[in-house]
Amino acid sequence: MTHCGFVAIIGAPNAGKSTLVNALVGSKVSIVSPKVQTTRMAVRGVAMRGETQIVFVDTPGIFKPRRKLDRAMVKAAWTGAGDADAICLIVDAPALANEPEGFSANDTHAIIEGLKANNQKAGLILNKIDGMKRETLLPLMDKLNSEGVFEQVFLISALKGDGIEDVGKWCASKMPEGPLLYPEDQAADIPMRLLAAEITREKLYLRLHDELPYATTVESEAWEERKDGSVKINQVIYVQRESQKSIVLGKGGQTIKKIGELARTEMETLFGRRVHLFLFVKLKEGWAEDREIYSGMGLEYPEE
Ligand code: GDP
Ligand code: MG
Repeated sequence: MTHCGFVAIIGAPNAGKSTLVNALVGSKVSIVSPKVQTTRMAVRGVAMRGETQIVFVDTPGIFKPRRKLDRAMVKAAWTGAGDADAICLIVDAPALANEPEGFSANDTHAIIEGLKANNQKAGLILNKIDGMKRETLLPLMDKLNSEGVFEQVFLISALKGDGIEDVGKWCASKMPEGPLLYPEDQAADIPMRLLAAEITREKLYLRLHDELPYATTVESEAWEERKDGSVKINQVIYVQRESQKSIVLGKGGQTIKKIGELARTEMETLFGRRVHLFLFVKLKEGWAEDREIYSGMGLEYPEE
């Protein structure tokens, strides 16, 4: 009899959720970036462990919402956690250990309170232990453990792959009996055009650093299968101000050209086929208030 279920990966922005899911699944399904809040939707990775299929929901960071878009992300994140058969809370262990006032004021604390309020138990994953001293790690572990919401603690480096298999085994052990939801060789449930848009968004962020903080979004407008097996993808990069348009284009179009090259190369590796990528930059003031863009990102538009 096969087993199959969902694991919600929750944690503060930048804790390493995407890196962990990628490591568990073994192929790049979620976008990893040093900038926080790049994951806006519940991207899933699907992993097999023996006869067990695990569907990972890489939730957007759960943090204190301010903007409308933030609220939609938080809601999606908790919904993902509530529907799951197991929850993993992942924390940036060195960052947490270095906080002067402990972890009381930050996102991890808010998440722990959320778990308590929802009466949910989770596995605790202390990430980024590479280069961290035991003397700081153990007190942090005790402190978090004393919250009483964790069934199991894992010490890992998602980046180096250390400790990953124990997490995978634990998750597999939590999956209920049932038929597989996905073909065994399927790594990602995210539609290809969303994935393609995420890839371009990642390249934009990596390239433009702080010049364009969260002011952009990317949509794959057209997806054309060609007879020779290649695919033609048209994407629009939406910016909120005219001045941001020239930043994305760069001098003589150099910046967008580079972003397009990087994105195309990654898409070709991921999709295993030739990709013709065409990028357009459009001004759309207030895209963060646009319903259609929310549904395109797999999010519910928050009312009020
Ligand atoms: P998310 O926002 O929780 O999805 O975090 P990401 O997976 O995007 O990772 C945020 C940053 O932390 C990236 O720069 C990762 O390379 C880095 N990171 C993730 N895991 C580790 C780790 O185990 N060790 C170290 N040193 N860095 C890590
Ligand atoms: Mg992420």
